[in-house]
Parts: sequence; C-alpha cells; structure tokens
Amino acid sequence: MIPAAFEYSRASSVDDALRLLWQHAGSAKVIAGGHSLLPLLKLRVASVERLIDIGRISELRGIGTSSGGGLSLGALTTYRDILDSAAVRSQFPLLIDVVDGIGDVQVRNRGTVGGAVAHADPASDLPAALLALDAEIVVRSQTGERTIPAAQFFEGAFVTAIAENELLTAIRIPSMSGRGGAYAKLEQPASGYSIVGVAAVVGRGGSQVRIGITGVGDVAYRAMAVEQALLASDWSDNAIRAAAAHAADGQVVASDIHADRAYRTQMAAVFTRRAIAEALRRAG
Ligand SMILES: Cc1cc2nc3c(=O)[nH]c(=O)nc-3n(C[C@H](O)[C@H](O)[C@H](O)COP(=O)(O)OP(=O)(O)OC[C@H]3O[C@@H](n4cnc5c(N)ncnc54)[C@H](O)[C@@H]3O)c2cc1C
Repeated sequence: MIPAAFEYSRASSVDDALRLLWQHAGSAKVIAGGHSLLPLLKLRVASVERLIDIGRISELRGIGTSSGGGLSLGALTTYRDILDSAAVRSQFPLLIDVVDGIGDVQVRNRGTVGGAVAHADPASDLPAALLALDAEIVVRSQTGERTIPAAQFFEGAFVTAIAENELLTAIRIPSMSGRGGAYAKLEQPASGYSIVGVAAVVGRGGSQVRIGITGVGDVAYRAMAVEQALLASDWSDNAIRAAAAHAADGQVVASDIHADRAYRTQMAAVFTRRAIAEALRRAG
C-alpha cells in the first residue's frame, strides 16, 4: 500500500532536528532507517503530518568508548556498525549475541539502535539487553538534555519516556569489567523477532546479577524474582534452573500464533537458564 501524504523535512544537524521537532511537536515524527516506521505508514496503521529525516546527521552515528570501559552508541549507529566494532566484540559479547540474531542482512545494515529503542516493540531484542546492562538513554530537546535509566524508559508496548519534542541522541552502557553477559533467544523464524529473549549480566563469582526479558509481556522487564532467587543460591546448575523457573513471574504472558501462553512461559524459563549459564561462564 501507499502511505497517506505527508510533508518531509531533512534535518541537517541535531540542532536543526530539534528545531523542527519543536516547531512541529505533536504532528511530526522522526525517521531514521525507516525499517519500523515505513511499514506502519504503508499499512496505514500509523499516519503523520510530517517526517523529519535524521538519517544523514553524521554526529549521531558512531561508537565511543570511555576510559572507564563504558560504551556510547550514537542513535544512528546501525546493527552492522556494532558487529564491525572490535571494542564491542571484545568487551560486550552480549551485544554481539543480540545483534547477530536481529532480522536479516538488510535490517542489520539499515536498522538503527535509536530507532529500535524509540520504537519499543514488545518483541524487540535491544530493550532486554539495555535493562540487563543497566544502560542509560540520552534524549535532547531545545530546552536541554535528559539521561533516562533503561529501567524507566520502556513504559509499555510502543511507549517510551521520550517526549514529542525530544530526540534520542545516544545510549550509554557502563563497563562490563568483572562481569559477564550473554543473550539467548527463541526467535520467530520469519522475522527474527523474539518469542522469548533473555539478557543476563552476572558478576564474577555470582556477586551480582541483572536479567532483562523481552517478548514475554507487553514490555521488556527485569526479572527480579529470578535475580533474588539467584543471589540467595549457590549458583549450582540446579539453583540456576530453579531460579530461571521464575522468569515470567508477575507478567501477563503473551499468547499468539507463534507461541501460546504455556509454551512461552516454559520457554522463558529455558532461555533464562541458558543466558545465565553462559553469562556466568563468560564472567570467569
Ligand atoms: C524484516 C524485519 C525484521 C526484523 N527483525 C528484528 C529482530 O529480529 N529483532 C529486533 O529487535 N528487531 C527486529 N526488527 C526491527 C528493527 O530492529 C527496527 O525496525 C530498526 O532497528 C528500527 O530502526 P530504524 O532506524 O529503522 O527506525 P525507524 O523505522 O526510522 O523509526 C522507528 C521509530 O523510532 C522513532 N525514532 C527513530 N529514531 C529516533 C530518534 N533518534 N529519536 C527519537 N525517535 C526516533 C521513529 O519516529 C519511529 O517512531 C526487524 C525489522 C524488520 C523490518
């Protein structure tokens, strides 16, 4: 189908994008790689008066590392950029697990991390990873910059803490020093989206743990019941299995043509166990 007519502005810089967002707040949407937004416009599930194209703002693209070992991903960083980064490969193997399993080559070449996070699809992979990695999302408007912890950013299916006149500019991830991380997912074979996706970050010797899960509820969440059970355990295989059984606690588990509620609940436990075991191994 052909989308309904819309106005189009190409932003030449972040300041230009912020000016346009301010001027057209409520009636405009940003477009980056277009992989999530364009299908919605074409299907007329979404409509918009104006698209603000940020796709050529070079200052928004790139991967930076801090002296403390943290990572900064510009909003327009593509999945391909992440796969090609030696720093990510050596220090953040969890992110490589995630990105390697996303979509197909075209999606990985064009899809941006900012677009994925701002879109907040309940089955997308990055939100679970960002929760486990304790990431922060940086947003800017004409009035200033805000840094939002991932735990407060994903508010519901396709709903985030970004205001209408704000632009997501970067994602910051703290150092993985002394910790190991892994991502395990059961994917929907046609698209690659998660039926269940689990990110685990574990401190060496089981000193700390953060588990993020996507695909199960209507928004990615931290599996606190699993974390609490693990911290009170001896981290034996049996203890990990018992803790992982709490993966869907407190969630209204999704049920659809790909996985009914009972199967998805069971798979949440299975993939949580796998992610924790691999994160523990990587923590050393
Ligand atoms: C065939 C296919 C398979 C896929 N498989 C997977 C998968 O396996 N796992 C997975 O997690 N995802 C998957 N995806 C989703 C993909 O990851 C996203 O479509 C993509 O990353 C979105 O980025 P984009 O730049 O294309 O966003 P766009 O489509 O341009 O934008 C998406 C939304 O985010 C907003 N937005 C974009 N950038 C910003 C910004 N900087 N600030 C504020 N708002 C912004 C837009 O206004 C829009 O609402 C798949 C997509 C397709 C088409």
